[in-house]
Amino acid sequence: MNHRRPNTLYVLVIFVLAAGAAALTRGQALDISKQTIVDLSHAYGPSTVFWPTSPIKFTLEKVADGKTEGGYYYAANTFCAPEHGGTHLDAPRHFNESGQAAEQIPLEKLIGPAVVIDISAKAAANRDYLATREDVLAFEKANGQIAPGTIVLLRTGWSRFWPNAKAYLGDDTPGDASKLSFPSYGPDAARLLVDERRVAALGIDTASNDYGKSTDFQVHRIAAAKNVPGLENLTNLDKLPARGATIVALPMKIEGGSGGPLRAVAFVR
Ligand SMILES: [Zn+2]
Repeated sequence: MNHRRPNTLYVLVIFVLAAGAAALTRGQALDISKQTIVDLSHAYGPSTVFWPTSPIKFTLEKVADGKTEGGYYYAANTFCAPEHGGTHLDAPRHFNESGQAAEQIPLEKLIGPAVVIDISAKAAANRDYLATREDVLAFEKANGQIAPGTIVLLRTGWSRFWPNAKAYLGDDTPGDASKLSFPSYGPDAARLLVDERRVAALGIDTASNDYGKSTDFQVHRIAAAKNVPGLENLTNLDKLPARGATIVALPMKIEGGSGGPLRAVAFVR
């Protein structure tokens, strides 16, 4: 969903941050008037997809909703959610005891230029597809080498299944994560991106940067070892160019957090 709300303080703050990041990384300012803003986050609600073993889902409880004694309307809620559900951040701390926690991640890793590697055709043919080193090299042959500090987004096309948990995760048996099936990064692709290209972050439009069948979460561990955060359950990656978008991915700033709910947007020329 694209949206433009240029008069809100929120977008002004994003603009200032993004302009600063773009100026740092590309040597030029970001002119928001010439950009389309693409929403990369799913909304949080009763249908938000969570890992089958998650003890709770997103819950919203009313504190107030109605006319006050003063005659004016007032609404407020409390919410409760696992860090790792819906569109969310994986902080390096998730798989690295000494890795950066959510509030410690430098903003330069969450705001910056993006590339989108499209494996949607291969994933459509094989829902357990693992993006390979060769997939990354083929992308670079067509689009140029991925620069250090780039936010890499892997497009599998899986967002089309959201919020059908069974289709999206491959299995939705409560309490059982042993039969999941969805595509993601393979370890050799992750090593190339993290260790050789020194990318800022790894994002994806599935539930995890490791594929559904993974039991050892190698990609998470490769990324976390180098303090590279993950961005999971993204959407609208089909609306981004292979390169040229600027990403602003700002999670909830949870002290000591291993992750958290994430609002991610892209500026596209
Ligand atoms: Zn996660």
